[in-house]
Amino acid sequence: MGRINFWTKNVVRSHTRCMITTLIFAAFPICATPAMGGAIQQISAQDGAVIVQFDGVVDRADVFALAGPDRIAVDISGATAGTSAFAGGAVQNIRQRQFSANTARIVLDLAQPAVVTGANFSADGKSLRLNLQSVAPAEFSDTVTRGKTQIVPPMAFRADPPKRHYEVTAPIRVNVGKGLPTVSGPADDRLPLVVIDAGHGGHDPGAISPHGGQLEKDVTLAIAKSVRDEMLKSGRVRVALTRDTDKFVVLQDRYQLARKLNADLFISIHADSAESPEATGGTVYTLSEVASDREAQRLAARENKANIINGVNLGGADANVSSILIDLTQRETMNVSADFAKLLLREATPNMRIRGNSHRFASFIVLKAPDTPSVLFETGYLSNEADVTFLASKTGQGKVARALANAIQVHFARRIAAR
Ligand code: ZN
Repeated sequence: MGRINFWTKNVVRSHTRCMITTLIFAAFPICATPAMGGAIQQISAQDGAVIVQFDGVVDRADVFALAGPDRIAVDISGATAGTSAFAGGAVQNIRQRQFSANTARIVLDLAQPAVVTGANFSADGKSLRLNLQSVAPAEFSDTVTRGKTQIVPPMAFRADPPKRHYEVTAPIRVNVGKGLPTVSGPADDRLPLVVIDAGHGGHDPGAISPHGGQLEKDVTLAIAKSVRDEMLKSGRVRVALTRDTDKFVVLQDRYQLARKLNADLFISIHADSAESPEATGGTVYTLSEVASDREAQRLAARENKANIINGVNLGGADANVSSILIDLTQRETMNVSADFAKLLLREATPNMRIRGNSHRFASFIVLKAPDTPSVLFETGYLSNEADVTFLASKTGQGKVARALANAIQVHFARRIAAR
């Protein structure tokens, strides 16, 4: 027995050695070629994923779907086409060619309708992963009309090499169209539209004050309504609330409502809680994959949990969920969000308590609309007695609303002036 094992092992070992030798020889010509941007080394499709490997960093990838026959195309800027490809899973055949001097085009011919449900470059930017999911023909047609989605490798916009993969997936829920919220204000769609999102709701109370038992979901709804009323006085903006009753709304639906309405600004209202009863004051957050600090990171994790009930992620586990890719690097949107955050802090300071270093950022799901400037306003701490008294009072809510309304007005005045 021992002898047989010995031989078996030996056979395996020499086979492995042979494979390694083959790989070294196979890789050699590629390594010897000077890297010009990134050449496509290999494309492989298996069940559920397509991996594209490059020998250098490319600029970006644009993914889109085409019908008749069904296929998915990926244009990679800063890349040269290669020859090596292995089809599999839903992908029947893979083609690649040099589309223009700077762009390689990969076409995945589909054996059955499938959509890209997520995509990310590896941390070193040298491989691109597309997650594929088989879908019904109607859903495939939907993605065809959606157009291109851009994915950028981390190196292209970060000075420091990122330490983890860059996720750019967010589910879209197709049921959003059914119950769009009411838009209040003048019936003139040339006027800017602001969507105010009252955090939490329904079974999800958010933070609970240890002082009087006030619930974050009630405080945020009262503030949201107060902001709406305050803004409508000007007659120069339109306003919609993601919820105007005590109901639960999945985080993705909140920003998708804003997108569906073509909103110009999205503001999510919250009230924090901290272990220390001393923690006090408001903070404005904008989106970033990398958090500005530990506290912001923990807060985002806590707020993102709103989607999870009894271990079930309501944001991602719905049969009606299809997906889109979000380009987090849409700098224009992020710059506008950051500008608004500064403006809000400026307008809030005379009206309410604001923390020092109060513009922070982290990866909040609710801020992930790629095309709607978005901020999350933690209006204060329900764990702090003075804050909860202020935020739960009509006077306090009115002051927060005034701060927001002022900031919104200045924001749009600037945007119009800049045109
Ligand atoms: Zn909250």
